[in-house]
Amino acid sequence: MALSFSCAASLLTHPGNHGKNQQFRGKIQTLVEESGIPSISSSSPPYESLRRGNWVKLICGASFEDVIDIRNLSLVYALAGVDCIDCAADSSVVNAVNEGIEAAREIVPLRKPWVMISINDDEDLHFRKAEFDPEECPADCSRPCEMVCPANAISLKKGGVIKERCYGCGRCFPICPYDNIRGHSYIRDASSTCQLLEQDVVDAIEIHTRARHVDPFYKLWNILAESISHVKLVAVSFPDVGDSTVSAMHMMYSIMKAHLHCYNLWQLDGRPMSGDIGRGATREAIAFALHMAAVSNRPHGFLQLAGGTNSHTIDSLKKVGLFQKMSAAGYSNGRMSAANAAGLPQALIGGVAYGGYARKIVGRVLNKMQSQHGISHIEDYPEYLLEALIEATNLVGPVKCYKLPTHL
Ligand code: SF4
Ligand code: SF4
Repeated sequence: MALSFSCAASLLTHPGNHGKNQQFRGKIQTLVEESGIPSISSSSPPYESLRRGNWVKLICGASFEDVIDIRNLSLVYALAGVDCIDCAADSSVVNAVNEGIEAAREIVPLRKPWVMISINDDEDLHFRKAEFDPEECPADCSRPCEMVCPANAISLKKGGVIKERCYGCGRCFPICPYDNIRGHSYIRDASSTCQLLEQDVVDAIEIHTRARHVDPFYKLWNILAESISHVKLVAVSFPDVGDSTVSAMHMMYSIMKAHLHCYNLWQLDGRPMSGDIGRGATREAIAFALHMAAVSNRPHGFLQLAGGTNSHTIDSLKKVGLFQKMSAAGYSNGRMSAANAAGLPQALIGGVAYGGYARKIVGRVLNKMQSQHGISHIEDYPEYLLEALIEATNLVGPVKCYKLPTHL
């Protein structure tokens, strides 16, 4: 199919080197046209990716609130073809995601990924911020906290923890030789989440739960229930709690069922917020997938991996025979899709969500751009956009089964 390609005004008009920008713009066009990115070459809705097993979600971070980075990340990963972008349940963050997507759509007429917000029913690792008082830090401390933070969220010069950048990974807690750093947990306000849903600025919601006690889940769902009709997908993110995992899923499903008139998804959270650490981080997500694949009586809903996912995850899924493995029976949706109604098979594992690793590989490019040009929109610097897009497509491509052209 021939692709039309309209350029963002900023790509054309940036006052920098016009000829150089045009050259990079041409390369971005070539990458997009020749890769066969499904969201650009077809109009299949995002839930079709879940059915086929090639769904990709970008996790901006339930607590990450740096709107400049979030806008740029959303732009880059929308171009790379993700199906969904998951972010904090905060209106300025949601606006940043939507702006990034629209900026991507001005560059290439792509199918809009769904926007998802994440909330929690109780204390949860994803919903906390580090804090310390820099006044209490000895002057001769070598500041290992600054070095260990994957989000560049600690700067003694800037007053300690940069709140909007901290996403609660906890790596700085044990590294401080003076035990100065504490975690502050919070629960997202359910009423303001309802208001956000009712504004129709998001397509999906994810509830993080520890899946050990259903009371908090029940209370939260009761507050959300009337607003749930505004979304197309409800996800529940939870860890593997062994033998009681499936019964917890059934209990949560029975709580949701009466108001669940949309698709639903179970996010299997292997090893939270660890994908950027390395190959081993993905093991727990794969083990969780194997656990779920062996269970025949789980409740309706797509399954999707998260927690420790990175560039090794797809190879690991292939090794255990679960990558895009189709199941004849249409497990699945609170709402029957045309595909289910037509009896089409459905992937056992609907797809993968990438968080810390996805942010790290594109974040390196964003950091370079910012150190050279200050806080910027990445589309104003097409050479950086191209570099970031290559990183993003290298991660998303193996799930979507598209390939980068080799001559860029
Ligand atoms: S290391 Fe993790 S918890 Fe500590 S400041 Fe950085 S992002 Fe926050
Ligand atoms: S490691 Fe601890 S004492 Fe040292 S600068 Fe960081 S917070 Fe302060």
